[in-house]
Amino acid sequence: MNKFKFILLFCIILILSACSHPAAQKQLFAMDTYMNFNVKGKNSQEALNKICDEIFNLDIIFDRNEKSSELNTLNQSKISNVSDELLDIIQQSIDISEQTNGAFDITLAPVLDLWGFYNQNYKVPSDDELKLSLNKIGYKKIYITGNNISLDNTEIDLGGVAKGYAADKTIEILKEYNIESAIISLGGNVYALGNNDGKPWQVGICDPFNTEKNIGIVEVENKAVITSGVYQRNFNYEGKFYHHIIDPKTGLNPNNNISSVTVIGSNSTECDALSTAFMVMGIDESAKFLINRDDLGVIFITNTNDLYVTYNIKNYFITDNTVNFINE
Ligand code: ADP
Ligand code: MG
Repeated sequence: MNKFKFILLFCIILILSACSHPAAQKQLFAMDTYMNFNVKGKNSQEALNKICDEIFNLDIIFDRNEKSSELNTLNQSKISNVSDELLDIIQQSIDISEQTNGAFDITLAPVLDLWGFYNQNYKVPSDDELKLSLNKIGYKKIYITGNNISLDNTEIDLGGVAKGYAADKTIEILKEYNIESAIISLGGNVYALGNNDGKPWQVGICDPFNTEKNIGIVEVENKAVITSGVYQRNFNYEGKFYHHIIDPKTGLNPNNNISSVTVIGSNSTECDALSTAFMVMGIDESAKFLINRDDLGVIFITNTNDLYVTYNIKNYFITDNTVNFINE
């Protein structure tokens, strides 16, 4: 098991330890990560069976490294008629690109390939290589007419949003089965449905400098808690540290001091995309974005281990560390 997978598994175990007497549990490996589902109530097993089918179905559609996947077909042929799911995730992603001035951009695939993040064959691209690939980046290169999508000299990578989308689909299925209490973790993308025997669910926020520890917990009900961090996929080269979040404007790691961002909100797709976007935007630009978004809670951890937290979560974020509030 590589370090990345071990860290995810550890964080998940911490989360599971918060669950009492689950009616049904399931663990699986999909979308290149470990997923855990803890569901309480009648029909739990039936709901979990349907969830597994749905997750594997989405994995087959979204995996751009799988030759026969729908996304790979679109990337290679540049035009195709896509399923409702692929259309939906691409449309939601473009929406967030527009809101974040392109900090989140699913057309980053050509640059991600240069860095080797898709197959862990890491390398630092040359300036010339980056320049060529940056010409292929831009969410405005995606054209949509009905279910028909065409790509103008670009390719799509859904790594920054696929797990959040799968979490939303999971919650939809749980609601179809009238499940009122569950906690799910898709590679650290958590959703807490309802409550845990009358108490809020407790979700650990990983310490990016010691991923076997939590830096705090949030107490939540009916919320997604989604983290992007530099510790999730990274490598060192000639004494420098590189990680898997890329600024679409430069093709490089963002030039800021953020180690992880957790976004808490009701929609997992949005929280997943925004956690990646805020890693790129840094605290000041994200704070401006958040002025009109009191429905979102955000925890930034800097690379000096300082905490910057939106004021609206002060009553349910519990930590021993000093907290600096933003948008107070
Ligand atoms: P993880 O998948 O590790 O939970 P994220 O949700 O932050 O973390 O997604 C990171 C992944 O998103 C990268 O591995 C890459 O595939 C993709 N990505 C990196 N930078 C961006 C970006 N600026 N916009 C959209 N996708 C990105
Ligand atoms: Mg993300």
